[in-house]
Amino acid sequence: MTLHFNILKKDSATKARLGRLITAHGAVETPAFMPVGTQGTVKAVLPRDLKELGCQILLGNTYHLYLRPGAELVRKLGGLHGFMAWDGPILTDSGGYQVFSLAAMRTVSDEGVRFQSHLDGSTHLLTPEKVMEIQEALGSDIAMVLDECVPHDAQRTYVQMSTERTVRWAERCLRVRRKEDQLVFGIIQGGMFEELRQWCVSEMQALSFDGYAVGGLGVGEGEALLQSIGSFTAELLPEDRPRYLMGVGRPEDIVSAVRAGFDLFDCVIPTRNARNGTLFTSQGKLSIKRAEFTGDPRPLDPDCGCYCCRNFSRAYLRHLYLAGEILSAQLNSLHNLYFYHRLMERCREAIREGRWEDGVSLPGIEGDRKDTFIQEES
Ligand SMILES: [Zn+2]
Repeated sequence: MTLHFNILKKDSATKARLGRLITAHGAVETPAFMPVGTQGTVKAVLPRDLKELGCQILLGNTYHLYLRPGAELVRKLGGLHGFMAWDGPILTDSGGYQVFSLAAMRTVSDEGVRFQSHLDGSTHLLTPEKVMEIQEALGSDIAMVLDECVPHDAQRTYVQMSTERTVRWAERCLRVRRKEDQLVFGIIQGGMFEELRQWCVSEMQALSFDGYAVGGLGVGEGEALLQSIGSFTAELLPEDRPRYLMGVGRPEDIVSAVRAGFDLFDCVIPTRNARNGTLFTSQGKLSIKRAEFTGDPRPLDPDCGCYCCRNFSRAYLRHLYLAGEILSAQLNSLHNLYFYHRLMERCREAIREGRWEDGVSLPGIEGDRKDTFIQEES
């Protein structure tokens, strides 16, 4: 029994659960999606609009904020909440993932990870203690431990060594934890090896974190492995703690993961795709740049109630995109985030009303599985 997470209802046909996560800045109804606010902003979306579209919690990137403008500066200006004027819950990642995906010249040792900034080439050392100190200065409601995210095709010997190190790092993170109202989540690694995932869960569970994240998935391993390793790991995690599937975010993947018992999600897909002109609708994905929309007076998605769909035509959105107007990114991001938040709302409703066994009605999702996401590059 924990005070910060209550399961309100469990679905009888699947592993899906309806829950409430309590943080220092308010409650989050789960399953929930967290828009990614990389540099202290969800790209092209005002905090006011995030609130309005039903966003409950944001994700902030420690790596980016540490390098620029610096965690101490953010602390002095009211923490991340005050700095970016978002008074709801914030989860910060540990920066590990960005070090492994963005930074140059990184060397990993037991001490931590040394790397060169992708901004100016300066050298930095992130240790488990340091990432906790940074997240404390940022003042997030949920902090993540430092972990190493290994490539999906890494050799077993490397994955084992790395997973053991991730556990030792997690232990060190807990030891320096000082901020009482900040929840700390452990991260389960172990690559594509079930026995390593299992070992990692038992070690992390012994450390007793406030929640558990599953990392190292959605990194190119393919849908079959994502689902099998994801649901295998979810089942091992303690029932009474929130479960966060890191970085996995195609709508159909989220729905599968909710079924497998995950509660929290984050991904850049809705905002990044929006800026690339790829939009999620109840009829499937749509690329706004296509010539067929040149004179199309219809809204993007007639079934969507967002500000964008209530006011603008496909023809106008296509024009904005082709003209490179800033408003294109704004309206498209607003719509895609609205779509994601409605999707989560539908998942919560289905669990609440025990409708999941009849199949959650997810127009544009279930029929869209074979479609590939072609616009996911930066
Ligand atoms: Zn819309």
